[in-house]
Amino acid sequence: MSSGSSGGRLVVVGASLAGLRAVEAARRDGFTGEIVLVGDEPHLPYDRPPLSKAFLEDDSAPEPTYQPPSHFADLDVDLRLGTRATALDPVARLVATAGGEIRYDQLVIATGSTARTLPGLEGLPGVHVLRTLDDARGLRQALDLAGRVVVVGAGFIGSEVASSARKRGLSVTVLEAAQVPLERALGPEMGGAVSALHAANGTDLRCGVGVQGIHQGSTGLRVEATDGSSFDADLVVVGVGADPATEWLEGSGLELKDGIVCDATLSAGFPGVYAAGDVARWFNRDFDVEMRLEHWTSAAEQGAIAARNAVTGACGEYRTVPYFWSDWYDRRIQFVGVPTADHVTVVTGDPAEGRFVALFRSGSRLAGALCVGYPAHTMKYRRLIGAAASWEDGLAFADSRR
Ligand SMILES: Cc1cc2nc3c(=O)[nH]c(=O)nc-3n(C[C@H](O)[C@H](O)[C@H](O)COP(=O)(O)OP(=O)(O)OC[C@H]3O[C@@H](n4cnc5c(N)ncnc54)[C@H](O)[C@@H]3O)c2cc1C
Repeated sequence: MSSGSSGGRLVVVGASLAGLRAVEAARRDGFTGEIVLVGDEPHLPYDRPPLSKAFLEDDSAPEPTYQPPSHFADLDVDLRLGTRATALDPVARLVATAGGEIRYDQLVIATGSTARTLPGLEGLPGVHVLRTLDDARGLRQALDLAGRVVVVGAGFIGSEVASSARKRGLSVTVLEAAQVPLERALGPEMGGAVSALHAANGTDLRCGVGVQGIHQGSTGLRVEATDGSSFDADLVVVGVGADPATEWLEGSGLELKDGIVCDATLSAGFPGVYAAGDVARWFNRDFDVEMRLEHWTSAAEQGAIAARNAVTGACGEYRTVPYFWSDWYDRRIQFVGVPTADHVTVVTGDPAEGRFVALFRSGSRLAGALCVGYPAHTMKYRRLIGAAASWEDGLAFADSRR
């Protein structure tokens, strides 16, 4: 048991990855008090990445769970599933829910993010978003009956859906409003290089093309594009990003700015209140910058650190070299570090062959590495970036891998 570990009541809002890791870490750190885990979905925490990959590709793929119910019994958690938190009073230390108020001594907010949609398309039959298990169940069923799919947005989720639909043999068109997909995540040059995987796998990617409207016709949906073209579809998937789930915190006094603003320890500025996962914007000292990540790895790590800080009173900082992966067709795309760079160069392989490593330089430092189809290289670059390696160190390492 950690020296400062306390009792009392830990409330975790958001029963997904960061929330689960928070609960597990609190118990691991010797917290003997009460733990209440509040989640608005009816399901036990489950793994989201397979929802756009294996689960969509194959009707026989199982639903991606993390842990059986016995795990939560072992952790002695008061599970409040299907329960939405509606407000927070961080002075009185109360979380309001539809089922009544819950008093806390320590609070970890892990409410993640919610899928954006396009104005006017909410609830239109045949138009899907993908964030939750229920979304994925509905989408998988719809794919069973579809021949033509239009995906709006060539980001990671849209591109994974396109890939899964192609693996089912469906005809897929992706409409991307930006001239270059993934510009924010990978920079303009590498966004373009990765997106070439779509054409190589028979997906029709149209860039600089937004959606004007979607109408129900006699033979399915008709997607009208901003360039005057139109596309017939049996179903449309909108993958235009996600927003941090902070609407329930409006008026709470917490600072909200595209996420909950936290310091380097994930403290949200009120006693006992921490945030973790997609919903948290925190100061990452490794890069001296505020970040909000929507990545599996950081959600898991932050959940554990936020809970430890909350229940032990420790002030551990969360520092990380961001890491995410995405699976498109037969390729694993991995990125470590940050994509803000003044120079990017391919050091291994060839983008034309859909298999390469590109390094990102910021000043004299190695800032990021994109590995497409080179999984064995990724974590080595992550370690180099974490050790503040110079650009020359990065190039020398790349040479040694040839
Ligand atoms: C389809 C899909 C594929 C992905 N693939 C990858 C991948 O390949 N690689 C990668 O690095 N990352 C991937 N991600 C991202 C990764 O899954 C997320 O970063 C991670 O799930 C974040 O975990 P979280 O616990 O912070 O939030 P979430 O998983 O979003 O969970 C938040 C939970 O809180 C609940 N909640 C929200 N508001 C309230 C409220 N007011 N009261 C109660 N409960 C509430 C939500 O319903 C949800 O259950 C993917 C995400 C999706 C959706």
